[in-house]
Amino acid sequence: MDLWYKSTRDSGMKISASEAILKGLAPDGGLFVPERIPVLDVSLEELKDMSYQETAYAVMKQFLTDFTKEELKDCINKAYDEKFDTEEIAPLAKVGDTYFLELFHGATIAFKDMALSILPHLMTTSAKKNHVKNEIVILTATSGDTGKAAMAGFADVEGTRIIVFYPKNGVSKVQELQMVTQTGSNVNVAAIHGNFDDAQNGVKAIFEDQEFAQELADKGYQLSSANSINIGRLVPQVAYYVYAYAKLLANEEITDKEEINVAVPTGNFGNILAAYYAKQMGVPIAKLICASNENKVLFDFFRTGTYDRNRAFVLTSSPSMDILISSNLERLIYLAAGEDAELTKELMAGLKDGGSYTVTEEMRAKLADFVPGFASEGDTAACIKRIYDKTGYVLDTHTAVAAHVCEQYRRKSGDSRKCVAASTASPFKFARSVLTAIDSKYEAMDDLALLHELQTVSGVDMPGAVREILDAKVLHTLECDAGQMKETVREVLKI
Ligand SMILES: *Cc1c(COP(=O)(O)O)cnc(C)c1O
Repeated sequence: MDLWYKSTRDSGMKISASEAILKGLAPDGGLFVPERIPVLDVSLEELKDMSYQETAYAVMKQFLTDFTKEELKDCINKAYDEKFDTEEIAPLAKVGDTYFLELFHGATIAFKDMALSILPHLMTTSAKKNHVKNEIVILTATSGDTGKAAMAGFADVEGTRIIVFYPKNGVSKVQELQMVTQTGSNVNVAAIHGNFDDAQNGVKAIFEDQEFAQELADKGYQLSSANSINIGRLVPQVAYYVYAYAKLLANEEITDKEEINVAVPTGNFGNILAAYYAKQMGVPIAKLICASNENKVLFDFFRTGTYDRNRAFVLTSSPSMDILISSNLERLIYLAAGEDAELTKELMAGLKDGGSYTVTEEMRAKLADFVPGFASEGDTAACIKRIYDKTGYVLDTHTAVAAHVCEQYRRKSGDSRKCVAASTASPFKFARSVLTAIDSKYEAMDDLALLHELQTVSGVDMPGAVREILDAKVLHTLECDAGQMKETVREVLKI
């Protein structure tokens, strides 16, 4: 059965999955959503024996109904190959009483690889299906991890260009080096003088600028987005929650239909929304534990029903979650509003104009599966140390936020369901924060020494993704003000 997509701000719209992937964001500023969330048509029993690629196919075919079987399998096989350093693609590590779903075994050692290694293939396939002749220009704002993963994914992919904007002082050293050393004749990256929200707002404004779109079209370009607002990012992410549940079953860690909880370190709300979609597809997930760092706008929202971005932006040791506007939340708001596009539009206008909105009590009641929590910087560091001292397993800072909130929830609620925590980055990406959390003696060491030290401490070899940037050449030095992003796009495209 065909599944169509509409905008969260316009229920009358009806486009195919491939068109939604190409467009990225709806022209009205809304996000594309499927007209219904499909239910899995294979049993968990069958899924138990499937590889990651087979699971991804079983999930994605139900969302991307205008892709042929060959097209989709081809995209999946090109994405989930030796770029990942384990055949399992997303292995589960049982540490204490938590199962860490390691989503960082791809090319850039963060969970963004799970979706961004397939998005370029979904996009070029979509372009072919829709007879697109223009060159596709991917515009992306990044809080650190998306940028590199998108650049790696799109590098030298024919018919595409990519321009990434990141906050100059808002990413880790490794993250910045990863981006500025990226090769590929079609990749560009600019550091903006501002924070992630400035970058994201700038990209959104460019997408909403119809005049600019026309100007680009006249020159043979069209814009698309690799940000997690693209449905082509969200859909592949649903797969690993299905996979994790099936593997727990296969390993007899849980019994048939046993409910689990999922804890996700959250920023833009894409990863946890994918878990929610997995639940709607029929995976027995009870609670979705939404873990924030000190930028706890989501914690406050789930507690009070008011989303309020009017607050100080905090730079933390988990920079990929330093976000005050969680774009993907709009998709959940839309569902909670009973798919009322007008109401969603009104609430989002409130966010844009005054920086806040409040949902109705009825809507709040529909969000009861979400358990919000947050970790302070101290909590995060203490969690890394506690788990390391107890088990020898080293968490990255983002994953530690989720682990802390998960432990806190378990203690306070007495909920003893098994918990899968999304492990979103390799600790090597945030070696300084991770090691100084374990022992303050590391403060004096330089970044390179820390990477070597972390090998010893964790007993894990330095991932290839880190090794290769150590002496790679800096290829990108572009910087711009937050208000100048459109001009930067012109400059890069030479128009
Ligand atoms: C992007 C990112 C997150 C946040 O994920 P969202 O989908 O934006 O909520 C968490 N941890 C890491 C390491 C990330 O790169």
